Amino acid sequence: MNQTAPSKGHPKGLAVLFTTEMWERFNFYGMRALLSLFLVNALAFSDKDAAIIYGGFLGLSYLTPMLGGFISDRFLGNRNCIVLGGTIMALGQLLLFASGSMYSSSVGTATSLMWAALFVIIIGNGFFKPNISSMVGQLYPKGDTRLDSAFTIFYMGINVGAMLGMTICPVLGDVKVGEVRVVEAFKWGFLAAGAAMLLGTILFFMLKNKYVVKPDGTPVGIKPDFTTVKAVEESDEAEKAHFSQKAILGVVFLMIALFFGIHFLSIDPNPIKSWVYPFIYAAGISLAVLILTDKSITKVERDRILVIYTVAFFVIFFWSAFEQAGSSLTFIADKQTDLNLLGWNMPPSFVQNANSIFVIAFALPFSALWLSLQKKNREPGSTTKQSYGLMLLAIGYLIIAFQVKSIGNSGKVGVIWLIIMYLFHTLGELCLSPIGLSLVAKLAPKRFSSLLMGVWFIGNAAGYALAGTLGAILPPTGDKFEAASKQGIDLQGVLDGKITATAQQLAILTKEKIATTYP
Ligand code: GLN
Repeated sequence: MNQTAPSKGHPKGLAVLFTTEMWERFNFYGMRALLSLFLVNALAFSDKDAAIIYGGFLGLSYLTPMLGGFISDRFLGNRNCIVLGGTIMALGQLLLFASGSMYSSSVGTATSLMWAALFVIIIGNGFFKPNISSMVGQLYPKGDTRLDSAFTIFYMGINVGAMLGMTICPVLGDVKVGEVRVVEAFKWGFLAAGAAMLLGTILFFMLKNKYVVKPDGTPVGIKPDFTTVKAVEESDEAEKAHFSQKAILGVVFLMIALFFGIHFLSIDPNPIKSWVYPFIYAAGISLAVLILTDKSITKVERDRILVIYTVAFFVIFFWSAFEQAGSSLTFIADKQTDLNLLGWNMPPSFVQNANSIFVIAFALPFSALWLSLQKKNREPGSTTKQSYGLMLLAIGYLIIAFQVKSIGNSGKVGVIWLIIMYLFHTLGELCLSPIGLSLVAKLAPKRFSSLLMGVWFIGNAAGYALAGTLGAILPPTGDKFEAASKQGIDLQGVLDGKITATAQQLAILTKEKIATTYP
């Protein structure tokens, strides 16, 4: 790939996309922090059902970006999809607000409103997430070497928003007077999330024309106009995507076959695990196949798309281990950890904030590191960076696995070990996640840029599903598990972590191989 010498600094458009994504993640993570508690305390779901709904919701939220990416590339353009997705998500939060306002008069209606809200947020996230990310890449000329650094800064916006949301929404919504929970308060947390989303959407709407532009001043992410695009883009980027009816039909059959195949193989009676997860796998695989059937793809493009698929496949292992932060790792923090740190007794769910805090602390140093290595011509390639990411995550798990092992079933690990584990996870995340977004931006043909960003997010969707599926395939057995589960300790979660750590070692080896072929 031809490289352009980096210009100084970053374009102003990056600040607009940073801010917009920050408010959107405030909305998403703020709501996510309250969801399980709301389901249990207001809508009377069991802990187990709430956890399953939470997992299914997150899995689906990362599946729809493929759809949002497709609609954007083909019909609406990034900007329209962002405004649409932001508005839809704000509406979803309002539905949750309504649900939280009326659970006491009718749990039935409040529960229906909650389902509607989750559905709406899943769709909204699908429109928003791939489009904001693919716009970051479009701010830079082709081959610009600042891209990894740009996405690392953008990633900081994600985490500033996540941390604000996960702090402010629980302060407003998860209220206790003494030991008694004020269930009426949940709705204020959801309202704050909705207000943040609206604010982000309005800011984007107002600032996009002025700042979200290419270096030559042409707007980025407008509705694709294939008649004029041809004149300004390189010819290999100019064609409109073309899926034949035959290919679409074939892919629909593939999807149905995969869906039922995986559904019938699924041994878990839980409806989300046996219906939603197979749907995520089937849709992910078959939509990815659909792109390759496109008639306009050249050989070089096909190779690049295959690299994106390979990378998206390996990140499944990363996210399935990483995203246990909200489940098994929080259970460990709750039941098996001495939470006292320098005299402060940390609330267990607070421990996972270490992730956002570390991203915020390390994003700029990482971004500067990539730029300085680049100046010395020593910057590692994208897939090598991602291999480091997988390795760091595995180290984080090994640290905590050793600690948990050494204390037996009744002891407690010091919270500092969990924090050290999150430090390794975060350093790994910074090597893998923003770099992955940047890699997709570099390799994707323009007419598929948002759709392929959606493929990248499928790695998350499948990661959530895989974490759940592993638990179903390997039911906890033996005395140790029984004793632990009596105390409410999730040893299975730690085991899943070890399995994914091993899978990552394999992933690293393979990725090193591709690293030698592609930058
Ligand atoms: N925290 C990042 C985000 O919200 C990555 C999450 C993920 O991809 N699982 O975009």
